[in-house]
Amino acid sequence: MQRITILGATGSIGQNTLAVVGLHPDRYQVFALTAHTRLDELAKLCQQYQPRYAVIQHEQDIPKLQALLAQSPTEILAGEQALAWVAAHEQCDTVMAAIVGAAGLLPTLAAVKAGKRVLLANKEALVMAGQVFMQAVTDHQATLLPIDSEHNAIFQCLPNTYQQGLSKVGVERILLTASGGPFREFSAEQLQNVTPEQACKHPNWVMGRKISVDSATLMNKGLEFIEACWLFDAKPSQVQVVIHPQSIIHSLVQYIDGSTLAQLGNPDMRTPIANALAYPERIQAGVSALDLCQHQLQFYPPDESRFPCLALARQAMQTGGTAPAMLNAANEVAVAAFLAGKLPFIAISQLIDTVLTQLPMSSAHNLDTILQADQQARALAQQKLSSF
Ligand code: NAD
Ligand code: MG
Repeated sequence: MQRITILGATGSIGQNTLAVVGLHPDRYQVFALTAHTRLDELAKLCQQYQPRYAVIQHEQDIPKLQALLAQSPTEILAGEQALAWVAAHEQCDTVMAAIVGAAGLLPTLAAVKAGKRVLLANKEALVMAGQVFMQAVTDHQATLLPIDSEHNAIFQCLPNTYQQGLSKVGVERILLTASGGPFREFSAEQLQNVTPEQACKHPNWVMGRKISVDSATLMNKGLEFIEACWLFDAKPSQVQVVIHPQSIIHSLVQYIDGSTLAQLGNPDMRTPIANALAYPERIQAGVSALDLCQHQLQFYPPDESRFPCLALARQAMQTGGTAPAMLNAANEVAVAAFLAGKLPFIAISQLIDTVLTQLPMSSAHNLDTILQADQQARALAQQKLSSF
């Protein structure tokens, strides 16, 4: 029996995880569920899955959740330290890291440092702190399994000896597929007036609002580019982004002998979640089999002039040090402002570029430096918001 903590249980990934877990009560038991502020939602999940702990953001909300959970054995905790505590608890085996944004870094790292099996959806944590994060995985013998559909696909297409180094196992490069998002065919002029509602209507996936906007700007692919470099120890030159509007091929690996391996499936996050939960076994995910005759697959290169976020992310990875943490922080501020109607869509990349140009980079060997860079970039991005 695997005992699971789900960080970000009320989100899109959290709920998909519970859907898979619910299919296999003989294999998985829910140890802890966490949420930010959606108490009603969390209460429902607690009633259904009976976790030992529930964690919320604010201490003053504990009585409210307690009232919603009368008769339930679930103990309620609050705050950042409680998130890290349930992620590192000795009675928990597996942690699904599905908090969105930088807020997920510390609890995810706590799970890594406790040597857990960590299922990583929270790509921002790895983007911010790649070197520190991967070093902690090695030092504490944690098992890191990718949930992002592309990275899970790459993981499935690599031999299980890939940690020896990509060139040792004959990999030439990784092809990271991108749907292109809802504005794939919009002209530069059309992009000037797009709204948060349009940005959050992804053609192939239903996701949280932040990642939906990231998919629309292609920053999601930029973050995933950085994520791929860290997860698979790939050089930036070994990862190539390809637009594939149908989201049927979730990514590919090319080998030096001319072979290209791909993982295909209907676009449904329950597949990578089930893969990582059960790895190296296979379990039912509740996802129907792919009917290839229903699909025409297309591929073409991304247009970085209309979607500059991709290039900004690649440059940040090449610069290294604190640059990816700053990129991520500026993006979080920009996306929140766009969603609040305070920043035009096309200014998202401009704001990030301004922050990266104006702030000095340093090396990122420790967490304090990274968190400081994150704070500096957020502050500057907030300050510059009004100039767009
Ligand atoms: P979401 O917005 O639907 O859910 C986010 C979860 O995080 C919620 O449970 C929320 O309560 C919690 N949360 C938010 N802010 C918090 C904070 N400050 N402190 C503690 N908890 C907080 O997001 P999502 O779409 O499920 O995405 C979660 C992560 O998974 C993101 O990093 C995203 O990039 C990644 N991801 C998502 C998908 C997808 O299909 N949704 C696919 C690949 C990767
Ligand atoms: Mg993805």
